[in-house]
Amino acid sequence: MTGPMVRCEGLVQVYGLPGQEVTALRGVDLAVDEAETVALLGPSGAGKSTLLWLFAGLLRPTAGIVEVCGRRLSDLTPKTGAEMRLRDVGVVMQNPGRNLLPYETAIGNLLLAQSPTRRTWPVKRRRSAALLDSVGLARVAHRPAGRLSGGEQQRLAVAIALANGPRLLLADEPTSQLDHESAGAVIDLIQAANADLGTTVVVVTHDQAVGNALGRTVTIRDGRVGAEGHAGEDYLVVSRDGSVQLPAEVLEGTLPPGSLARAVLTADGVELHHVNVERH
Ligand code: ADP
Repeated sequence: MTGPMVRCEGLVQVYGLPGQEVTALRGVDLAVDEAETVALLGPSGAGKSTLLWLFAGLLRPTAGIVEVCGRRLSDLTPKTGAEMRLRDVGVVMQNPGRNLLPYETAIGNLLLAQSPTRRTWPVKRRRSAALLDSVGLARVAHRPAGRLSGGEQQRLAVAIALANGPRLLLADEPTSQLDHESAGAVIDLIQAANADLGTTVVVVTHDQAVGNALGRTVTIRDGRVGAEGHAGEDYLVVSRDGSVQLPAEVLEGTLPPGSLARAVLTADGVELHHVNVERH
């Protein structure tokens, strides 16, 4: 594979019926390199889950392209798309119950998740037990998954998604129902997959601890990439159309929406100067 593990360009997603549309994404460009770890941050309703669903191929975009593992998703048939998801992509959806078979035991879920692999039965069992242990679920291994608590289901969902050592992990709020210690175990498991297998990680999260544990943060605001964080420092992102999302404090204070401004080139960048023009 050449190029990034995940790439999208001009991604637009509109939900709903004509006349009642909701625009969830308004032109997102993003590339995530192989073995990179990215946290998608941003306010509720910004479009983070939608972006993850599009990367997982669970939703068809209104416009724009998505490439995963070097393949354009719109070129895949439902069968080849499903095969790629089984083989290469682990997905954790926001509602933990949707990631598992409720009548199957916790360990049974992990064994079934490994069906597409050629591992022998003892290897599958060992892997399942080790995964359960790593997320603190060994003692509920034989309980039906549907009878586990929300937090336990969430930990099991992450273990299931990582069972086959995917090339890409896409997880939507995987620690939202967890206490500090359990969240730490989930973060450790995700980081181990990245360190040991080179799994690329994209996680939607509100959890600061998850954001801190990953290499890059991408903040989605109002359906666009608003900012990017590296090593604790946030940067604005210039879109393909030349637009940038100004920070809230600038919008509220110096340059409220609708302001006229002049872009002045300086030695190391550009300054925006508010201007007053008589409008007739
Ligand atoms: P986030 O994950 O950042 O909270 P979402 O991607 O869930 O944002 O949602 C973005 C916008 O799209 C919101 O306004 C939400 O109400 C809307 N939305 C999400 N899913 C649907 C859907 N299936 N039908 C209609 N609107 C939706």
